[in-house]
Amino acid sequence: MSVPSYGSSEVPAGPSCFYHPDRPSYIRCQRCDRLICTDCQTPAPVGFHCPGCLDEARRRRPAQRTEFGAPLRADEKPRLTYAVIALCAVMYLLQWTAQTTGANVTGYLSYAPAHTSQWLMEPWRMLTSAVLHSPANVMHIGFNMLALWIVGRVIEPAIGRLRYAALLVLSALGGSVAVLWLTEPNVPTVGASGAVFGLFGSLFILMRSSGAESGGVIALVAVNMAMSFIVPNISWQGHLGGLVAGALVALVIAKAPRGRRVLWQTLGLAGIAVALIALTIVGIPLVNPPQLGQPPILGF
Ligand SMILES: [Zn+2]
Ligand SMILES: [Zn+2]
Repeated sequence: MSVPSYGSSEVPAGPSCFYHPDRPSYIRCQRCDRLICTDCQTPAPVGFHCPGCLDEARRRRPAQRTEFGAPLRADEKPRLTYAVIALCAVMYLLQWTAQTTGANVTGYLSYAPAHTSQWLMEPWRMLTSAVLHSPANVMHIGFNMLALWIVGRVIEPAIGRLRYAALLVLSALGGSVAVLWLTEPNVPTVGASGAVFGLFGSLFILMRSSGAESGGVIALVAVNMAMSFIVPNISWQGHLGGLVAGALVALVIAKAPRGRRVLWQTLGLAGIAVALIALTIVGIPLVNPPQLGQPPILGF
């Protein structure tokens, strides 16, 4: 009987490792019962596991997720937040150059309740108005983009890009629905404030539901809400609508049952969208007078 020589390609006379036929083995994998050498042994709660079983276990483990169901990635950048900021900046430039080119971007894309008075004649304005800002006041776009940059970078990775997109769109729509119900029919409104206040509302809910200290957010929202009442020409209605819609979206995202979370989140967000559209349709007769056959009065 020959003595097994380690490190050589000679096949040992005794039992050998499943992964290394040239190495002797006297230990079996606890799962698959294959013989494994000392290099192939990974300590398990009982005995050892082989490299094959280890790979298999790794593959079966569900992907890591955040508290709210978003995939957890270490180097995730808030790309949608940056994209929205870039879009608002480009639109603002277009609004400025409109004076020279004659294309009245603000006039075409801003929203006043009269725009949805004749059975939803220009409903897209309820969303397009959210990427425009007041050409008369640089502070308007400056503050909104700063708030979006600060809060968006926190919320986007926490809830994932799709939920975040839904949050922005539904908050902007919520702001416009409040404008439809609560403002003068012919006063156009512009600004991402509805979406920004939606982020404020959702940040409060998300922090509460994860047990974080939310006093700072309450103060931030209170100060901004107070400012929207005190400073003239700011649409507190749009702010309020965005705040409520954003908080509702966050409630759905945070409270959806873990079992079938994506399904419940989808149904909940779809429900909010349907409710906002229903509120828009119900609000149409409120716009008085309904401006039949007349273009609505626009201008700043
Ligand atoms: Zn094994
Ligand atoms: Zn081995």
